[in-house]
Amino acid sequence: MIDFRDRVAVVTGAGSGIGAATAHLLSAAGADVVVVDIDACAAERTADDLPGRAIAVTADVSREEDVDRYLEAAVEAFGAVHLHHLNAGIAGPADPLPDLDVADFDRVLAVNLRGPFLGLRAAFRQYRRQDTGGAVVITASIASLRGSHDLLPYQISKHGLLGAVRGGAMYGGPIGVRVNAVAPGLVPTGLASDDLLQRGRTVPQRRTGTPDEVANAVAYLLSDAASYVNGEVLAVDGGAASV
Ligand code: NAD
Repeated sequence: MIDFRDRVAVVTGAGSGIGAATAHLLSAAGADVVVVDIDACAAERTADDLPGRAIAVTADVSREEDVDRYLEAAVEAFGAVHLHHLNAGIAGPADPLPDLDVADFDRVLAVNLRGPFLGLRAAFRQYRRQDTGGAVVITASIASLRGSHDLLPYQISKHGLLGAVRGGAMYGGPIGVRVNAVAPGLVPTGLASDDLLQRGRTVPQRRTGTPDEVANAVAYLLSDAASYVNGEVLAVDGGAASV
């Protein structure tokens, strides 16, 4: 049984989908949770629904000042931060490669790649201040693990996260910080289009996943049960990445 009592967790993009599911699981296991989302109402809704102590912070993870602010709010509310699920992300355009717009590309990279970089840096700064170890999980994607002809900015951003996980793990290992990723396959949330979800029928398990199934993997990686797992990218995709 995973136990997060006496742990403070930040979950970004926790207003809905996979982040909300993680926030619920961590809270049910005893963590104090900082619910971060760009959508203020969604963040409040998740925080209000959690069984344990929680605060909601409205922040855009791609903005340095917002990331600093959510961390300050977490420390002010709960005194420390031990766990980070850097999860916020956007799908971006599905245009064919020749038609892609640079501004759209930049926005996807800002949220999906600069956001986790800023979150990772803020986490490590906080661990240094606290003089504690900790654990970070980044939400990558099946799009980090294999190629696809569509959602190219998304795919590029999600491949970039593998560098954040591996570099973070190497940096964090000697100081007691583990950095891992989950790589979800198709999960019905606000982010996944109906077209995309149709492909769920072709994965080995012949269905899409659920936010709770991804959250279970996140909770495992954040927990002491994964105390010797570092720099790992755990696919939660019904076997899709291996075919
Ligand atoms: P979702 O749209 O339900 O949740 C994403 C949340 O992030 C939303 O609440 C949104 O408001 C928030 N958000 C968006 N931009 C933000 C920003 N700049 N700052 C702060 N919050 C922001 O979708 P989801 O599927 O739960 O997505 C969560 C993560 O899972 C994303 O990183 C996504 O890429 C990844 N993922 C999803 C799938 C899938 O099939 N749903 C598959 C692989 C990976």
